[in-house]
Amino acid sequence: MRYLKETKQPQSLPASQQDLYLETSPKKTVKSKRKRFNSQKLRWAVQIAFFIVVLVIGWQFYTFVKYCEAGGKGFYLPRPPGVESFLPISALMGTKYFFGTGKINPIHPAGFVIFGTLLLTAFFFRRGFCGWICPIGTLSEWEWRFGDWFLKKLPQRVSSIMRNVPTAFTAGLSLVFTPIIALLIVEVITMESFKSPLFRYLTPAYVLAMVLPFVIPRKIWPDKVNDILARAWKFSILAFFIHVIIIKMPIAQLEVLYTRAPFVRVADVKMLKFFMNMSGMALSVILTILVISLINKNYWCRFFCPYGALLGIIGYASPMRITRDTGKCIDCGKCTKACAMHILVEKKKHVLTHECVACYDCVNACPVNGALDMKLIGDRKKIHYGLYAIMLVGLYVVVTNTARATGHWHTKISDAEYIMRISELNHPKYLHKAGQFEME
Ligand code: SF4
Ligand code: SF4
Repeated sequence: MRYLKETKQPQSLPASQQDLYLETSPKKTVKSKRKRFNSQKLRWAVQIAFFIVVLVIGWQFYTFVKYCEAGGKGFYLPRPPGVESFLPISALMGTKYFFGTGKINPIHPAGFVIFGTLLLTAFFFRRGFCGWICPIGTLSEWEWRFGDWFLKKLPQRVSSIMRNVPTAFTAGLSLVFTPIIALLIVEVITMESFKSPLFRYLTPAYVLAMVLPFVIPRKIWPDKVNDILARAWKFSILAFFIHVIIIKMPIAQLEVLYTRAPFVRVADVKMLKFFMNMSGMALSVILTILVISLINKNYWCRFFCPYGALLGIIGYASPMRITRDTGKCIDCGKCTKACAMHILVEKKKHVLTHECVACYDCVNACPVNGALDMKLIGDRKKIHYGLYAIMLVGLYVVVTNTARATGHWHTKISDAEYIMRISELNHPKYLHKAGQFEME
């Protein structure tokens, strides 16, 4: 027997969110498992700790670059290798280089080690990195929690529209860009094609694609379609980078890039400059995502992050999964309501989707002892959130410190080279055009 009671207007919400508005029936008494310290508090503590680490790394790198800009004078802090975790393309290049040569690249070794560790964590612990460690995930969560508080003050109809519009907009983006990326991958078009007159004539088609999710009646084009389309975008970005770097780029070319491409040797400084002197376009895109993240839970993580997409795919191999005991479950829907990734937990025996970030919020919300837990494959062993956190963070700490101890952590670029290159950073050889680098 189900004990569900729907609130007023669930049909006005996206399909993926309709089940969020469910209330527990008071008819059935269940043993409460509420505790003062729970998985959410531990997760927030881990998130805050990593967020602080990232802020310290950012400040340390900024200080190092300032020291180099002053020609090696003033307050000195060594360059923090952790800054390489913000070079995702370099991490992919390092991965290809490692599997092609058996060596760790000497320019951004920490970037490769951190990226490799993330892939390992996904293999064992699903997308735990996204739910527990990633600073962007943390920022997204703080945003939607604040936005949720704000949206609850608005009429339900208004808040429902505000939640729907960004998803429809992203679905339109996906309709435009996913086919373009697919054509780039199969080399039907190239980057040069964008200059051709044909692309100008396609403008009405782009406009139509962007408008479609807003104008087609929901009976024909339900919100679920928008949600699926919108989530396709991150996979198309991931496919593009895997094709260009992992599949197409020859190992010999990587060797040349690491030794002779000036841009690659200062990619970290260029990244800092990008954030310090952001163009109007980049700033508008980032601000738009930040604002939408207030009203659309985990907007970046669900729809755009190619890292999250990759970890989600690898996570299918993980032996861990959220598991619902259908015999104990009272169908209250609290797990679904707690899930910020919009997974219908209450309908699943095992949560196997790549969207699950292993945050334990559903387990925390479940009022019945033993009805919902993170378990090992075969439903035998329950994984307590404390053990999960120790294993996830522990793997990260062990691998990165092993790399440090074995000399695979610090870049081979000396401080003197940084000082020299930063002094000539405006030279055209430090630019790149659509992945084409100047050599020296
Ligand atoms: S299913 Fe549970 S663990 Fe997975 S993302 Fe949703 S709330 Fe978090
Ligand atoms: S698993 Fe727990 S929270 Fe989810 S529907 Fe069942 S009893 Fe409710």
